[in-house]
Amino acid sequence: MGLIKFLPWLILIAIALMYIPRMMAQKEKARMKEELESMRRKLNEREQGRPQESAGEMVKCPCCGIFFPKNEGAVKNGRLYCSRDCARRG
Ligand SMILES: [Zn+2]
Repeated sequence: MGLIKFLPWLILIAIALMYIPRMMAQKEKARMKEELESMRRKLNEREQGRPQESAGEMVKCPCCGIFFPKNEGAVKNGRLYCSRDCARRG
């Protein structure tokens, strides 16, 4: 009988057909997870890098309470104010 010869192959093919989609789905899932992770990482980097890149460290004005870049402040009596007006008043 010729069919007996093919039976192991048929079983192998059947198993492969059952497992390959599952493996592909798992691979796809892992790939998507990785992509999401890298996107999140990029977003975090951008968020953390923005203030340091553009404006330096942010400090709070003791007079009016607004946040401003440290290198743009006015110093009076050792304290840092957002503007000369605040430095004069504070
Ligand atoms: Zn101020």
